[in-house]
Amino acid sequence: MPEAMVAASASDSTDRSAVQQVDVAVVGAGFAGLYILHRLRKAGFSAVGLDEANDVGGTWYWNRYPGARCDIQTVDYSYTFDPDLENAWTWSEKYATQPEILRYLGFIADRYDLHRDIRFGTKVTSATWDEAAQRWLLTTSNGATISCRDYIMATGCLSAPKPPEIDGVKDFGGEILFTGRWPHHDVDLRGKRVGVIGTGSSGIQAIPKIAEQAAHLTVFQRTPNFAMPAHNGPRTTDRVAQFEADRAAFREQARWSLAGVPIAQNTFYSWALSDAERRERFEKAWGEGDLVFILSQLWADQGNDVDGNTLVADLLREKVREIVKDPETAAALSPFDHPFGAKRPCLETNYYTTYNRDNVTLVNLRDEPIKAITSTGITTDRRTFDLDVIVFATGFDAMTGAIRAVHPITGRDGKSLSDVWKNGPQTYLGLTVAGFPNLFLITGPGSPSVLSNMAVSIEQHADWVVDRLIEMRDKGLTTIEATDAAQQGWARHMADCSALTLHRLANTWYTGANVPGKARGVMPYTGGVGPYRSICNEVVSRGMLGFRLTGPDGAEQCNDGEIVRLQPDVRLVLNMLAEMNLPPIESMGAQGARDFVTEFNKGRPPGRPVGEVLDGTIPGNERLRYRLYRPGTTGPHPIVVYFHGGGWVLGDEQSDDPFCRDMCRRTGMIFVSVGYRHAPEHRFPTAAEDGFAATRWISEHASHLGGIPGPVLVAGWSAGGNIAAVTCQLARDRGGPQISGQLLICPVTDCSFDRPSYAENAIGYFLTRSLMYWFWDIYCSPDDRTDPRVSPLRGELRGLPPAYVATAEFDPLRDEGIAYAEGLAAAGVPVEQLKGSGHFHSSYVMVDVIITGAACRAKMAEALRRFAGLPAAASDERARFERKPQPAEINAAAG
Ligand code: NAP
Repeated sequence: MPEAMVAASASDSTDRSAVQQVDVAVVGAGFAGLYILHRLRKAGFSAVGLDEANDVGGTWYWNRYPGARCDIQTVDYSYTFDPDLENAWTWSEKYATQPEILRYLGFIADRYDLHRDIRFGTKVTSATWDEAAQRWLLTTSNGATISCRDYIMATGCLSAPKPPEIDGVKDFGGEILFTGRWPHHDVDLRGKRVGVIGTGSSGIQAIPKIAEQAAHLTVFQRTPNFAMPAHNGPRTTDRVAQFEADRAAFREQARWSLAGVPIAQNTFYSWALSDAERRERFEKAWGEGDLVFILSQLWADQGNDVDGNTLVADLLREKVREIVKDPETAAALSPFDHPFGAKRPCLETNYYTTYNRDNVTLVNLRDEPIKAITSTGITTDRRTFDLDVIVFATGFDAMTGAIRAVHPITGRDGKSLSDVWKNGPQTYLGLTVAGFPNLFLITGPGSPSVLSNMAVSIEQHADWVVDRLIEMRDKGLTTIEATDAAQQGWARHMADCSALTLHRLANTWYTGANVPGKARGVMPYTGGVGPYRSICNEVVSRGMLGFRLTGPDGAEQCNDGEIVRLQPDVRLVLNMLAEMNLPPIESMGAQGARDFVTEFNKGRPPGRPVGEVLDGTIPGNERLRYRLYRPGTTGPHPIVVYFHGGGWVLGDEQSDDPFCRDMCRRTGMIFVSVGYRHAPEHRFPTAAEDGFAATRWISEHASHLGGIPGPVLVAGWSAGGNIAAVTCQLARDRGGPQISGQLLICPVTDCSFDRPSYAENAIGYFLTRSLMYWFWDIYCSPDDRTDPRVSPLRGELRGLPPAYVATAEFDPLRDEGIAYAEGLAAAGVPVEQLKGSGHFHSSYVMVDVIITGAACRAKMAEALRRFAGLPAAASDERARFERKPQPAEINAAAG
């Protein structure tokens, strides 16, 4: 932009003693700041933009290093708010270069006449909430102080470069460059000896370009990163065709997707694909040159399961070995210490082939750490490298660095944001902070931000904020502030979402681990763009849940609470079920309900492989069917007799198949799922007696089934948990079989419907109160209901086997499960409880759908192993990422 315009826009505010009064101040003139300014102006607010840079562009203003490009396809990395804009601008490449993106942002600023509201070359130096005036006061490095009612930080997530932490930087006699603050003049590296420190996205983009120029390039790598080819070129025909076919639908799909790119979710599971099928899918993804594609389209378990992830990582490492000729260099370039995707992977152009050049040396800092930077170059533990130029591609103080760079930001009661965030950022929705009224963060920590297409997330945040400001103005409200309860609830929800990912296994800038001394924790929201958008909308539709809004004359509105109490995947499943608008199961009749369950189960992920699955029958008058799941390890194994759920009416020995497979794998035990008889054909006490009879037969035939003779264990879910509990009581009273432990998952234990969980969770969580009434009516007449064979809570609880009782927060049966556990404990039975917060009745058995249930099943499996006298299973996930591959192994694998 012409400098004259900068001067003009700043000219009325050069008097430092003056105070510039505006409705809203927006810090940052990148993608976010520009769009917010445009929206604010259209809505009739007075606003000023502030940016330290001398022009628009944000991150694209500063990151001018050679090779800098976006790595989300540019057709997606664009504003979408104005359909005419989409006609006015066409990207020239699949992944636009930094100069083209900067031109685009300049074009936007011109098109919407935004320059005149922006004070460039101006840093905000402090921000203070003035309680009396109910306004923010911002001091600046240049020009007037600003008084504004609303203060918006659109400062970007990766805009505060990390200072070099290496001794001796100041002694270096050559030139020092930072990728994140690349000079605006041409940098001529021809004939020079260049060192690059850092191999993240910036380093990986810059290194091939620098190698083309430099006399010699030495790359100092601490951690190899996953990278795949960008296959850049003209915009891809299929993506463009998809866009042109229906632009509005394309954009809408992106808005509701997980990453902000219109790619559907993948439903293939690695264990259901052959090696050849997996390789074919991988080669397609490798050829696609699209990060979102390869991160999401190989198999559904790649992002949340270490085994599924390792399959991808191995294929990626294989590619490195194929491309890089020197085995030692290939080994050093092979990522090993983090799961694929847990650290930001990179798109590359000629990166790996660059290491085949004669003028490039890779220094593996894991083998020879940098000791110091000297006046002539870099010294490691082993060698000295003479250099003319050192390039720091060492990254950013991500997510919080640029926000905390305004210091202090002082909110209500004189509290500083740096103090409030000393143990890590705390926000509500990533948008607001309790104690800091009228402060908004755009793509702040706690929002999808860096885990999404930023363009989509920025528009969503800007729209949400400006829409709220308009509503407040319409209602005569002047302040908005998150409540503590809402913020704490969001932190818990964030943690629940993160538990679904593999981020816990990597030290990255997502978690603050790249900056020495920074508090650790996953900072971006990992629950996905679409779910996040629906949550933000829900906050509004539920009366600004979790916000306190005030106006003049004491007007106040506060609907306090937590926006998401369910586990994130439980929320998705319940929303999906609600959208299906299914008729109540109890309206289908018993056979109709059975047919429905059979059909429903066809759509679930296939269970994982186990050593052997075989079907059989239990001899006797009724010849009950069973299905046996045997582990892949050498037997004999302890046996668990399992009873499926289904309210004594539905299901069979196969209906909890994924659960039995999963538990067989986790426990290393045989699971025998019993097909007991159902009501209404066989009413009480048939199911209970079948359960007992089956357990006795299985115990008597343990050796024949490949099990360890002696005591068996029992387990069951829902009505199956009821049968398991009853079986333990009958076995005690009838002289056997011996049972060494019972696992009761959301069990029915009593015929009373008075406990609070029945009322609290009467509807909305799939298992409804009315469905439970229906099950009871079909199975058991009111006269029989207090019989301990259907209400075990009313039986004698002393002398029962040790128990593990799992309940779910949003389940009508929650309180009777807890009552049973407490009753057992009172009767002297060793008992452990798992109270699954945010879970519903089906959470634990919806394997590979409710991923958050996996950690609970791991605990259940450990309990069963303890009951059986087995040692705890070794499951140190971290250990799998601690050992780096040696060149010899790499050669062997390649050979
Ligand atoms: P980065 O991913 O944090 O990478 C920094 C690199 O520097 C890492 O290899 C790191 O090693 C190394 N490093 C840091 N401090 C070091 C030290 N003291 N000694 C030795 N090595 C050190 O930073 P970035 O490459 O600038 O990328 C940051 C993010 O910006 C990316 O993940 C991406 O989200 C975004 N970005 C996007 C694009 C694009 O769209 N194309 C381009 C550039 C950046 P360790 O891993 O061992 O810490």
